[in-house]
Amino acid sequence: MDTSIVAVAYLVAAVLFIAGLAGLSGQETARRGNALGMAGMAIALIATLLHPDVSPEHVGIIVAVALAGGALGAVLAVRVEMTAMPELVALLHSFVGLSAVLVGFASALQAGHHDGFAAVVHRGEVFIDVVIGAVTFTGSIVAFLKLRGSISGAALIVPGRHAVNLGVGAVTLGLMATYAGYDQLGALLAATALAAAFGVVLVHAIGGADMPVAVSLLNSYSGWTAAAAGFVLGNDLLIITGALVGSSGAILSYIMCKAMNRSIWNVVFGEYGATAGGASALDPALAAAVARGVNTASIDEAAQILRSATSVIVVPGYGMAVAQAQGPVRELAELLEAQGATVRYAIHPVAGRLPGHMNVLLAEANVPYDTVLEMDDINGDFPHTDAVLVLGANDIVNPAALDDPKSPLYGMPTLEVHKARAVFVVKRSMAAGYAGVDNPLYYKDNTMMVFGDARKVVEQIVKAMAHG
Ligand code: NDP
Repeated sequence: MDTSIVAVAYLVAAVLFIAGLAGLSGQETARRGNALGMAGMAIALIATLLHPDVSPEHVGIIVAVALAGGALGAVLAVRVEMTAMPELVALLHSFVGLSAVLVGFASALQAGHHDGFAAVVHRGEVFIDVVIGAVTFTGSIVAFLKLRGSISGAALIVPGRHAVNLGVGAVTLGLMATYAGYDQLGALLAATALAAAFGVVLVHAIGGADMPVAVSLLNSYSGWTAAAAGFVLGNDLLIITGALVGSSGAILSYIMCKAMNRSIWNVVFGEYGATAGGASALDPALAAAVARGVNTASIDEAAQILRSATSVIVVPGYGMAVAQAQGPVRELAELLEAQGATVRYAIHPVAGRLPGHMNVLLAEANVPYDTVLEMDDINGDFPHTDAVLVLGANDIVNPAALDDPKSPLYGMPTLEVHKARAVFVVKRSMAAGYAGVDNPLYYKDNTMMVFGDARKVVEQIVKAMAHG
């Protein structure tokens, strides 16, 4: 195929990727966004196979490898639980990092097509590609192992790491000058090893509730590394796609940091994970509340109160995903609506274990989109709400984030459920949530704990309401 036709196909694919990303910004349009992105990728793959630089004997190998990868991806997509999605995403980022390293070395080892200054620039591109790729590769593997629970999630801080980081930066720049300027492959190898070690240390230092931002940052790195590989290969589409992934990952990290009231620098170089837990448990007011104990409600009591409610807000959290309670929740909402109550869902930006986690589950249960509201749009409504059902959520409804400066969650925007008339918290025990801190909400006078698995509890409430 003519290179100009390939260029046009790449352009069409790039436009489809951008339209796809725009579609992903809203839940009503997300499905269409995905379809557009898939169409763009299909066009990009076909155009690449027909590129004049791709010799016909290589097409067979590429198709075979793509089919094997696609089959593996399909099996994983069917098998993976929604709760295990972040670790799968982390693993996929590591592949992007590794392939960028391999592309870089392949180009470094190939007989050069460049001379003079162009060769220096090309080696600079190879160097950047390999270094970001290596950091992304090992950092994502550590993130995968942490999220999977194979290694401890706690932050591991290297002593004097700020000085170490600066040192690593300076040495890397020196190696870049050596490789780009003098074509010393040894410098590229040394930088790869250093970057790989740095990726491990970087992600090891991020702990507790900051891991989601780390995964989203690694997503951004994987985009930039793909863009760098695009420069190495002289492939415009890879540059555009990489830049799209890199910048959307960066924007997502920013949104998540805002939702957790933390700056990116604070997440990457702070020591939050090392100190999380404990602090708020020592708060005297909380200690007194703990001593007083919690209110509990039986299924029948909960059903009774819900029967007289005219406004109900459901707050889903990670526990709803674990229990797969979204279907029964919708049945409960239908019963409440049949008795004339309004039922809405409040979504915190970091509810669950990945952005959009709750929206996907509720959409799966055919919950109408217009009843699912973002935190900022619904937070003002809690004081006028009769009953809130907190379903397997913990950190995102912790009022200590608002009023306890000693809490590690302090400053994080929270769903202010404690302002509602009655709050039911459905969870299995008094155990802490992801951030590992106690929750003063549970000890408030208007809070009632309904202990049990979220799915079973909601099913029982539905039964009690239907027969009541
Ligand atoms: P949390 O992890 O804070 O709390 C979930 C609660 O669900 C737990 O306290 C647990 O209590 C309960 N639970 C677990 N299984 C069940 C079950 N089968 N039935 C009923 N309850 C259950 O989740 P939130 O959604 O409130 O908060 C999200 C947290 O995760 C935040 O700290 C956030 O920073 C972090 N995070 C967010 C990511 C994102 O991108 N959205 C990614 C990774 C982490 P019990 O054991 O007593 O049942």
